[in-house]
Amino acid sequence: MEKKRIEKADFEAILSGEKDITGFFDINPADGKMVVFGVHTASNPDYLIRAIYEMFEGNLNRRLAVQAVKKLYRSVGLGAVGLNRFLKKLELNLDPVDFMLLVFKLQHQQGWGAPMEVIERNESRLVLRSRATFESDVMKDWKMQVCGLHSGWIEGILSSVTGSNWVCEEKKCAAAGDGYCEFVAEKKTPTWADITDSLLKGDTAITEFIEHKPLEGTITFIDRPVVIMPRIIFTSLMGSMSRIVGEAAAGGVVNYRAYMELGSQNIAYFRSMGITDPAKLVDLALTMYSQMGWFRVVGMEWDEARKEKVIRLDHTAESQAVGTAAKPVCYCTSGLIAGIVSAAYGVRVQGKEVKCQSKGDQYCEFTVKDKVEEN
Ligand SMILES: [Zn+2]
Ligand SMILES: [Zn+2]
Repeated sequence: MEKKRIEKADFEAILSGEKDITGFFDINPADGKMVVFGVHTASNPDYLIRAIYEMFEGNLNRRLAVQAVKKLYRSVGLGAVGLNRFLKKLELNLDPVDFMLLVFKLQHQQGWGAPMEVIERNESRLVLRSRATFESDVMKDWKMQVCGLHSGWIEGILSSVTGSNWVCEEKKCAAAGDGYCEFVAEKKTPTWADITDSLLKGDTAITEFIEHKPLEGTITFIDRPVVIMPRIIFTSLMGSMSRIVGEAAAGGVVNYRAYMELGSQNIAYFRSMGITDPAKLVDLALTMYSQMGWFRVVGMEWDEARKEKVIRLDHTAESQAVGTAAKPVCYCTSGLIAGIVSAAYGVRVQGKEVKCQSKGDQYCEFTVKDKVEEN
């Protein structure tokens, strides 16, 4: 199949509306090849798009699945830099927004939804509307804002051609019952506070900030190096420490103290990133450890009568690693929580595990109170 050459005049005709892209379809069914406007493509992606949303939904809730699609399509958008270079070579110089509108014109004419209309436009802010995007149609049954594909695409295109970071949020969505999908894009770099706010609100999951390069042997989480540890580290460390210092000292002192230090260093780090509210520091730390697989937070309350904080957790790393035991086993988690609360509120505390799944309780329950005497 001979691929049609796309010239500057073709782009200009599309831009002016004099032509549409139907004149640039090349389909060769025998070869199983299709080229649209010079780009190798394939039809009917609705199964694919639904599969992508549902794949992410498998491990996340729907709101977070939409965010994961957004991240994926941000990468698609970043690829637009190639077309931009090509246009520059043809001496067709479009400003970033006009360039993006051209990309969407090409996409929408291929079935990616209704055209995009510009509602507001300036240097650092752009508001776009579409009667319906492709994904708002395909994922209509989710009955919520689903257009992660377009918001990610917008972010990616604008970021790639301007060289600055853009953040795009969908504010209204046809799939949520609104009359149109509306996207607001702003030129900004999310701060630590933005990231942690969205984590706490449940708008993002930590997976979005993990860069895993298995072949280089590195994992970073929001720019900090981290490692994946097998859960048996708890039983294995506990075992070796018990042999060295005895069981009671290993659990109640060494592990508790070590993890308390970890918890308080974590809070010190969050604080250095500008977060100062103690309650928020505690929430953030527990959310992060939870999302890292240490446990699930079931409930957290303040017992006024006893002046203690009560935290209930499901499947803590140690209770899962140790299995059945005669007494509570979660010394590390207990220390971690004590360190977090102590550093967040700036008080000396005593943490204690009062119920434990390893001894048959429904959840592991920890209490944290002001330390009045030496233990
Ligand atoms: Zn939408
Ligand atoms: Zn436990």
